[in-house]
Amino acid sequence: SAAKIINGVALAKEIKDEVKNEIDEVVASGKRRPKLIVIRVGEDPASKTYVKNKIKACEYTGIESESITLPTTVSEDELLNLINKQNNDDSVDGILVQLPVPEHITERKVCNAVTPSKDVDGFNVINVGRLCSDQMTFIPATPAGVMEVIRRTGIETFGKNAVVCGRSKNVGMPCAMLLHADGKYETQAGDATVTLCHRYTPPEQLPVFTKTADILVVACGIPKLITADMVKEGATVIDIGINRIVDEKTGKTKLVGDVDFEEVAKKAGYITPVPGGMGPMTVAMLMKNTMMAYKKEINFD
Ligand code: ADP
Repeated sequence: SAAKIINGVALAKEIKDEVKNEIDEVVASGKRRPKLIVIRVGEDPASKTYVKNKIKACEYTGIESESITLPTTVSEDELLNLINKQNNDDSVDGILVQLPVPEHITERKVCNAVTPSKDVDGFNVINVGRLCSDQMTFIPATPAGVMEVIRRTGIETFGKNAVVCGRSKNVGMPCAMLLHADGKYETQAGDATVTLCHRYTPPEQLPVFTKTADILVVACGIPKLITADMVKEGATVIDIGINRIVDEKTGKTKLVGDVDFEEVAKKAGYITPVPGGMGPMTVAMLMKNTMMAYKKEINFD
């Protein structure tokens, strides 16, 4: 039977509309708008697109935004100083530095420079630690989007088998964290049994694991890594891959995920498409995090 295709664009709009309505209300009551600072370094084309989409979502929801672009040659100190200036600006609620940063800049230093209460990407080590300790935090937008899709679609995670392919610190790891942790704590995690696969999972073992999945989350950056034979009938398949490939028929570049969508869609219960799945959800969750920062919903004391 054919899978239900999860409409990430529609779900993201639902979330952005909720944020927009909330902002309309606070503004009507005489308060200022939330404000997000987006910092980008260099000329990475994918980063440009991501930042553009984030600014567009800010405009839609009514979040004030400022996009700051620094040249590739900017020094680490200059970047850290800029972040610090935003940390100390009371009119700024959220700060994010679009990754990757150039080689001469230490990514970890940059992530830790963003003060935890404005760290809407959740990449500061304090917020990573909070997530791993089941404490309220800014959950990185992509994993937050995964959990939101699961909740809003009504997919059960409690006691289910989840398999995450990919263990990056910003995507795979936090997805696994949220899926396995105890739902009774502040992160409202999934209580699933989680298997985390990565590049050293032997290729012949990968299908053994993925076939156990009631929920399969894939974030590897490899087109068609997941084929239909690797998926359990009726499983929920969440594709976080964003790969730019050249279409053999048209010669144009197109976006594909890590899942062989056409074939897997015949077997899965639910599936997210690329594009139109987790991409828009990620942007929507960033808007939600910015609103959380504005409302000071997280107690960092
Ligand atoms: P993202 O930022 O989207 O998470 P990364 O490129 O940082 O992407 O990470 C890719 C992840 O995919 C890594 O954790 C890597 O171990 C994992 N990976 C790569 N190849 C495979 C594979 N064949 N099977 C399972 N996981 C893989």
